[in-house]
Amino acid sequence: MLLLVVSLFGLISSSLTSLLSSDLIRLFNAYRPTLLTGGGEQCISSLRKRGVKFRTLGNQGSDICPVMNAVRVEGFENIVASSPFVLSCPTALKLTSWLQDAQVKSFTHMGTVNCRKMRGSGLLSEHSFGTAIDISKVDGADIKAEWGSSTFKGQRLAETAAIACKHFSNVLTPETDRAHHDHFHLDTGLGVGCVSSQLR
Ligand SMILES: [Zn+2]
Repeated sequence: MLLLVVSLFGLISSSLTSLLSSDLIRLFNAYRPTLLTGGGEQCISSLRKRGVKFRTLGNQGSDICPVMNAVRVEGFENIVASSPFVLSCPTALKLTSWLQDAQVKSFTHMGTVNCRKMRGSGLLSEHSFGTAIDISKVDGADIKAEWGSSTFKGQRLAETAAIACKHFSNVLTPETDRAHHDHFHLDTGLGVGCVSSQLR
């Protein structure tokens, strides 16, 4: 009898937990887009003042994955990007501040906008809203090969990642997990900044 009660309780609590977590995921995914801001004309003119070459695209994406005040960044003053990319204007502005603050000369990116869930989670990734960029190389230093090394390139990566903490709300590096072994994920979503000890 006791066994039956215990296993029944277990069954109820585990289905409650999964129900609750799937509800929370749904709630987060529905609520997250409502917190997005595109920054309007002010963001566009700030980006222009920083010498960024870009095209305005207006609001893009879908109801699930809106990209507010999207811009197609085509170049920077004195900074070489591997190829053009699209970001929500406020994120493009944060990216520019980081690149200028860290005196980055060149970088390679692996993509920005992508309406998808985070790996191993039901939550929508910040890439869904054009508020994230993945970077695989900074000033010729390859994150996969040089992260954690004491070479000049390794130190340069650690330094630029630490500076990224001042500009982005989430900075994920090879230190964070296996999924980021070859790139920095930088986003302006809901985050607490850099909590990794590596970046202190
Ligand atoms: Zn990413």
